[in-house]
Amino acid sequence: MPASRTLVLVIALAAAFLAPAKAAQICAQQGSVTIMVQGAMLCVSVDDPTHALSEQLLQVWIDRSARIVADFYGGFPAPLVLLRIQAAPDGGVHGGRTTNDSGLVIQITVGRGVSASELAADWVLVHEMVHLALPELGRRHNWLAEGLATYVEGIARAQFGNREISDVWAEYRHSMPKGLPQPGEGGMDETPTWARTYWGGALFCLQADVAIRERTGNRVGLQTALQAILKQTGGYRADRSIDEVLRIGDAATGTQVLQDLYREMKAAAMTPDLKMLWSRLGIPQDPASQPFDDHAPLAAVRIAITRKP
Ligand SMILES: [Zn+2]
Repeated sequence: MPASRTLVLVIALAAAFLAPAKAAQICAQQGSVTIMVQGAMLCVSVDDPTHALSEQLLQVWIDRSARIVADFYGGFPAPLVLLRIQAAPDGGVHGGRTTNDSGLVIQITVGRGVSASELAADWVLVHEMVHLALPELGRRHNWLAEGLATYVEGIARAQFGNREISDVWAEYRHSMPKGLPQPGEGGMDETPTWARTYWGGALFCLQADVAIRERTGNRVGLQTALQAILKQTGGYRADRSIDEVLRIGDAATGTQVLQDLYREMKAAAMTPDLKMLWSRLGIPQDPASQPFDDHAPLAAVRIAITRKP
């Protein structure tokens, strides 16, 4: 019995990068089972000698995660990705990792007892796929890569209908404060702690999203900037400077928000007034049980962020 098997999913997405026959040929070099849809391609290998993981469950999960990310970006952010699934004891979806050493690879660990509902509620694969949409910026700017993946995961899933909007804001309201600088800490480029990298980065994204929408009369937001960055750079396959990436994003929204915010936060500890921000957005203390305030000054901005454009 082989130690691993490979199934190939050719996910149907907005942009068709490769002819289906060519796609099947490339993926077939990785393994044996081919499932054709059309468009961008994920070659999926499952390392599970016990064959406990259901191919069908995995396929539905991978397909949905890819569509969530493709809908947010206006197309899946890479033409060809190897997705390596490692089986583990118990259930649930465990850690993931995205690399670009010799081709784009997402590694993710899934418990053999994982249920359909656990896969439906999974954030890990969406987070990893969001990494595909931003160029490699270097270790110093990892906070932007992780912050974007953290921020976009919730928004993209809410836009797709895969996550409750109240749940997304409840998590942001609960977790964004973790991203605030602690006493003695410096700017974003100088403080590679877990909290500043993930939630400090996500807070940068939220502040940018709100500021872009305020400056454009809520016509566009961070999503428009991110789509342009992907389109003009090719995403994670490319190495770019953070300055170039932020310039591309700003040009797409007709603002200077990303460059200005980065200039403020890169070398200095900034502590935005989060209480004021939640109040202006109309977000209650506990969004899971309390209503949003639709008369708040930035209620329309809050609503637009999780609405499918
Ligand atoms: Zn990540």
